[in-house]
Amino acid sequence: MGSNFDGDLAVSTTLCHLGRPSGEKVPVNSPIYRASTISFETMAQLEASKADKFKQGELFYGRFGTPDVFAFESAISKLEGVYGTIAVPSGLAACVLPLVAFLKPGDHVLVTDSVYEPARVALDSFIQRNGIEITYYDPRIGSDIRDLLRANTKMIYLESPGSLTFEIQDIPAIARVARQSGILTVCDNTWATAICMKATALGVDIVVQAATKYVIGHSDGMLGLVCAGQEHYTALRAAANWLGYRVSSEDVFLASRGLRTLSLRLREHGQNGIRIAKWLECHPKVKKVIHPALPSHPDHAIWKRDFTGASGLFAFVLNSEDRASAAIFAEALNIFGLGFSWGGFESLVLPGDPTNSRTATRWNERGSLVRISVGLEDPIDLEADLKQALDKIPD
Ligand SMILES: *Cc1c(COP(=O)(O)O)cnc(C)c1O
Repeated sequence: MGSNFDGDLAVSTTLCHLGRPSGEKVPVNSPIYRASTISFETMAQLEASKADKFKQGELFYGRFGTPDVFAFESAISKLEGVYGTIAVPSGLAACVLPLVAFLKPGDHVLVTDSVYEPARVALDSFIQRNGIEITYYDPRIGSDIRDLLRANTKMIYLESPGSLTFEIQDIPAIARVARQSGILTVCDNTWATAICMKATALGVDIVVQAATKYVIGHSDGMLGLVCAGQEHYTALRAAANWLGYRVSSEDVFLASRGLRTLSLRLREHGQNGIRIAKWLECHPKVKKVIHPALPSHPDHAIWKRDFTGASGLFAFVLNSEDRASAAIFAEALNIFGLGFSWGGFESLVLPGDPTNSRTATRWNERGSLVRISVGLEDPIDLEADLKQALDKIPD
């Protein structure tokens, strides 16, 4: 936290002021615009707008965005320290956009084995069938990724920490190899957001994230973000349009609102998450806790080097090898909900099994894995809830 995004201002200060209307007598927040048609005064205006339709902030037609969307996109660009941001309908849409924008038949893409599983399904079903080769790699590969490069390798896709298994990647080492070979890097930064990790500062070209999670933060909207430098921006913007992506102004409004409290919420999610992770580490029914901010995590040193904080999502492994135990535990919880998304104010658990979604690495833990999203409830109440539910698992 506390890093500077705008001159000498701290991030919490910047977040309160980004993407707001300026001028005399204006509301504090941008109004919601609903538009398909933008009407022009003259043919010359219409033609000029058409020629500039992929330029940042160009008001041309509803699908390309409205002033509220542009204000939000520019706020995210400032936060990420990039030239431009494209808001897309979901986090998954953000993961897929760079693949579609930059890969063509005959190309090869290297993808981390711990990639968000729906993105893996999209790769294996829709991307691969267009004659694009995919190689999954060990997320802990570091600069050895050099050995996997082929003449046709076009892109390296990263996600750190990895979904479910929370490996921290050596992003600078991988990005260095990629830059030396003229290969594009894409990194899913949903877990950390720009508040806890600036992927472009570590050498990544394109950052994708699900604003559905911490940016919106209240589990009531869906949105994705694709952030890139000027050299990649127009191709991404054009692909988003020709694929027909269009974002809901209501969801953008919720994301803009979420931005105001993002650093505040992340601080609480992060602190409570670490506290609960440490608590779980001492519980006799828990075999192991997988949280990059704990010294017990194998990649803790890299996390400390590259991240400025943690969010509230991590996993733990139960001692019990009986799969039913995780269900008994999850169903016994009263405060924690059971569900897929995360990053909202409410705490959630999700039993998961990485075994069948890994091909470059092996998941060797015998106990059941439970992912946990620590919300904004009081951690004392959360610990009591976890305790009573863990007590219900048979010995
Ligand atoms: C949830 C998630 C996504 C997808 O976001 P949606 O808005 O649900 O489509 C992408 N990447 C990661 C790491 C996620 O956790």
